Amino acid sequence: MSASIEIRSVPHPAPTPADVRAKLIADPGFGKIFSDHMVTVRWSSEKGWHDAQLRAREAFTLDPAAAVLHYAQEIFEGMKAYRGADGQVLLFRPLENARRFQRSAERMAMPILPEEIFLEAVETLVRADVDWIPGADGASLYLRPFMFADESFLGVKPAGSYIFCVIACPVGAYFKGGAKPVSVWASQDYTRAAAGGTGAAKCGGNYAASLIAQAEAIRNGCDQVVFLDAAEKRWVEELGGMNVFFVFDDGSVRTPGLTGTILPGITRDSIITLARSQGMDVVEGPYSFQQWQEDAASGALREVFACGTAAVVSAIGTVRHKGGEFTISGAVEGPVTTKLRAGLTAIQRGQADDAHGWRHIVAL
Ligand SMILES: *Cc1c(COP(=O)(O)O)cnc(C)c1O
Repeated sequence: MSASIEIRSVPHPAPTPADVRAKLIADPGFGKIFSDHMVTVRWSSEKGWHDAQLRAREAFTLDPAAAVLHYAQEIFEGMKAYRGADGQVLLFRPLENARRFQRSAERMAMPILPEEIFLEAVETLVRADVDWIPGADGASLYLRPFMFADESFLGVKPAGSYIFCVIACPVGAYFKGGAKPVSVWASQDYTRAAAGGTGAAKCGGNYAASLIAQAEAIRNGCDQVVFLDAAEKRWVEELGGMNVFFVFDDGSVRTPGLTGTILPGITRDSIITLARSQGMDVVEGPYSFQQWQEDAASGALREVFACGTAAVVSAIGTVRHKGGEFTISGAVEGPVTTKLRAGLTAIQRGQADDAHGWRHIVAL
């Protein structure tokens, strides 16, 4: 299997006119507006990776028996392209996304996409749709690489053919309320992932299983759901699509460890590194929901925040559950949260020294 591939360019017959695009990206929201192109690469058991194309974004034609529609072999990634102050186009740790995509594929019995092809596909799309990167503060071009089984066969086995695709959408801030602390609903009825399951894989199925809990959160007046572990319903795991951090009055920071049921966030890993490089003591380990309530009440817990590529860093101000509700530090964003977000976004946007070599410049 060759590690690189020639991406054939099939130009868009009628790209969005510049004035229309400018209006679209001025206030893009999140995930509603898409750029002109997509990259697709096919895989089959006979040919391996083949037929790589940059082409107009368009609908797929799927057979009703396509395996993904029945047995849900689907994985994805989420990353962003930023416009640096000097006009450079920047990706943040894209090889980490490529590697996680490989691990997700392995768990879902899907073919392993070489890192080089993943990166080339992403860069090719960014180059083609570079004018779709919004200029506004906090805005970026969200990139969504994904892969699904398109073989037409109803037998239960790993499919024999797949499509890898990358699409892009200009995005503003993820949470409509801006940097205001969010509220979370601690679900006691639903769990996200169990030991030996797919919690560490970025697969659509995890999200499908989380939506009812997210709906429960909304019904209870909360922005997001926070999941507890499946075995004891005692340990805090993560949100539907973000990892979670706790900041204490002694300056220490805690985040649940990667036990196999938690998605290993690249933002999570970056925050750990940043916090340690700023002298903070970061522990990756279990934290119980009971302890969370006690520490919030005693004041030992000063800040809680969630993090992920889409929303970056969001303070959590209020926690609601079947038995009641509590707040953390009066539901006001704390200084550690603010500082870590500022530090991370400055690196991502090329406004700070890149001490850890996290930035990846896209050659235009
Ligand atoms: C993608 C994702 C995250 C965050 O990962 P990042 O690499 O930081 O974007 C956290 N939890 C879940 C369930 C996710 O799917």
